[in-house]
Parts: sequence; structure tokens; C-alpha cells
Amino acid sequence: MSIQKEPLFLKALPVMKQLVDAGYEAYFVGGSVRDMLLHKPISDVDIATSATPHEVKELFPHTVDVGIEHGTVMVIHHKEGYEVTTFRTEEGYEDFRHPDKVTFVRSLEEDLKRRDFTINALAIGIDDQLIDFFDGIGDLERQCIRCVGDANERFNEDALRMFRAVRFVGQLGFQIEEETRHAISLLKMNLSKVAVERMKVEFEKMIQSSYRKEAMELFVETGLYQACPLFDGKDNILLKIAQFSLKEMSVLQAWIVLVDELHLSDKEVTYLLKSWKSSNEQIRDVLMGYRTYCARKEEEWNFFLAYACSYEVACEVEQLLIAQGKSESVRELEGTYQSLPIRSMNDIQLNGHDIIRILQLEKKGPIIGQVLKMVEKLILEQSIQNDTEILEDFVLNHFGNGK
Ligand code: ATP
Ligand code: MG
Repeated sequence: MSIQKEPLFLKALPVMKQLVDAGYEAYFVGGSVRDMLLHKPISDVDIATSATPHEVKELFPHTVDVGIEHGTVMVIHHKEGYEVTTFRTEEGYEDFRHPDKVTFVRSLEEDLKRRDFTINALAIGIDDQLIDFFDGIGDLERQCIRCVGDANERFNEDALRMFRAVRFVGQLGFQIEEETRHAISLLKMNLSKVAVERMKVEFEKMIQSSYRKEAMELFVETGLYQACPLFDGKDNILLKIAQFSLKEMSVLQAWIVLVDELHLSDKEVTYLLKSWKSSNEQIRDVLMGYRTYCARKEEEWNFFLAYACSYEVACEVEQLLIAQGKSESVRELEGTYQSLPIRSMNDIQLNGHDIIRILQLEKKGPIIGQVLKMVEKLILEQSIQNDTEILEDFVLNHFGNGK
């Protein structure tokens, strides 16, 4: 096992070396070390150092203050950014979510002590020296998620850690150690004090994880779901998503199945997603996918369905149907999208100005929209060709001369 074999570590190594050469300690820490030891792909690297943020900034010519109050400075090296965080301790979580005080320290052990789980409290130095104060390696071998120190205390400091434990079950397929699990069942409702944006990150990682079933069953069993926006009483529906016969599920697919099982109206879907702090874009896609999903259960692909839904969302909907044996493949969908006569109003070979000219209107008015709507419908039902001359004739004959 060597950091030399990991391209991401290798690229960040000069930053670490510069810190060490200047007399500071510097280590790779957290998720990247855990994932390297598990032979899993590494997504991003975190560097922890004994240098204070001020000292880091003095050492490197290009830095960005990304979270300097928490000790994080981004060092730009060869056009790439690396997050360098000063060893720190945290104290006094009066609100179950924020430390009242962050103190920079010079001891790696103190820094690792404040981390959530033993498997996330590992560090590795530039010469591959592995630092493991809490038997994180043993827990990796036992496939076990265990709090660093007393679980009750750690979850009382930051309630999000409970959700993180369940999310790691999903990503790693590990078990939660008994005491840690017991503490979750006991303190689950504190999760409701955590910012929804933070919960959402964990929920979405859990949904997309390889061991979604195990994680979501635990999410329900421990009662954590009760502390999430509008999930109380929805345990059976959440279990359906857990057991849904799709190996890997996207966040969009999960929301579509969820709102479908709940038989929500569009307004209720929007309310639920807004409670989860979803972006307008996400709300739009869920609504679009939900409508298409409901329609596709009743009818085959046709131009109206395809026109109303983006191709990307349609593919995700179709995967849901395929997984349930309600569709055989995406072939029909692809054929429909390929032969769609128009994909949006912009594709209609006639615009507002043409209509004003043809109908000799004095100014813009609602008639333009009505004409375009009708033409759009006729093109989609293939009653008329999307051809300028044909469309102009049609508009003149149907709407001209005060008709
Ligand atoms: P992922 O693969 O999802 O990025 P990760 O373990 O790297 O997982 P991050 O959220 O990127 O998770 O956090 C990086 C590290 O910071 C963690 O490995 C852990 O050591 C520490 N950490 C993150 N969140 C918390 C928390 N709420 N409480 C304590 N330590 C935390
Ligand atoms: Mg990470």
C-alpha cells in the first residue's frame, strides 16, 4: 500500500512536501485514506497540517480562503486546488450541529479525535507512514462503523453523524457497531436540529449507494427517517425504495418512486421537495419524470409524451419501468425521440413575427400564443407537416380574415 500508486495523492504530494520541508507536519486524512485502504477509487484528497492558516498562506503563493475560520485554506498548485486544513479541536456543541469554538492545535492526534468514525480518523504521511490511534484499520477489517470515543457524546455534538453512519453502510456495506447503533436509536430525533441541506447530502449519497437496501432499512429501523422533513409516517414507502428492484438508483428515480407511491399532486411534490431544499431544477425534473412515469404506466411512448419530457429524464423513467417488468427496453423510447418532429416551440417553422405578418395584426396579442399552441399540437399528432409554406397556409385559412 503506497500513496505513490494513487494518482490523486501523487499530484498533491508536492504540496505536502513543501509543508514538511518548512518544518510542519502534514498528512492525508479522512475519506481518501479510508478508500485507498479499501482499494476503492478516491474522489478528493484532504490534507491536514500543523501549520496555522496564516502559516499556510505565507508558504504558498496562490491560496484561496475557502473556510479560514475552520482552518481550511485552498492551495493552488499547477492550476489544481488542494484543501489544507489546520489540525483543530472543536468544543461546546450547544445546538447538536455547530461547534461553539474551533481551536487550532499542533497535534494530529487531537485533530483525529474530533472526527466521526474510526475508519475516517486515519492519516497517512508522505513516506507512507500510517497513523491509526483508534484502531480504524481493525474496524476496516471487521467492516465496522464505530464512533471515535463515546458514541452518545459524539452524536450529541453533531447529530448529522448519525445519518453519516447509515450513509456509510450504504457505500461500504459495513455494519454499525452495537454501541454506535444503540446511540443512534436513542438520539435520532436530534437530527431534526441539523440544517436540511446537510441532511440532503447524506440522503442523496445513501440513495445512490451500492448497499441502498441495507442502508435504507437501517434508516427506517433506527427511526432516523422520522427526523427528516415530511418523512414521519412514511416508513413503508421508504422501504419500497429500499427494496425497489433496481440495483443502482439515481436521486431523481428515488424521488419519482417516492412521490408516486404517495400519490402526491404536483403542488404537494413541490412542497415536499422545497422542504428538502431542492433546487428549482430538481423540482422541475421530478415533476416532469413523475408525470411521464404515471403516463407511461397507461400508454406507450408517443410524440406527446416525448415532447413533454427531456430525453435524459425519460431514460431514467424507462429504467424504472424496465426494472418492474413494465417495459422491455429503451428501444421504443429512443425511436420516438429520434423521429420527434419538433423538440420545442422554437423548432416550429413559424414564429410570432410570421403570424403578425400573415394575419396583418397591428400588435402582439394572445392570438399568437393560441395559434402556436394549435400548430404545435397538430404537428405532434402528425396532422400537419412542420413546413413554413404549409403552416402559413394553414394559419391564413384558419385564423385569417377575422376568422
Ligand atoms: P466521502 O467519500 O463521501 O467524501 P468522507 O469521509 O471523505 O466521505 P467528507 O464529508 O468528505 O467525508 O469529510 C472528510 C472527513 O472529515 C471525514 O472522513 C471525517 O474524518 C471528517 N468529518 C466529516 N464530517 C464530519 C462530522 N460531521 N463529524 C466529524 N468528522 C467529520
Ligand atoms: Mg470526502
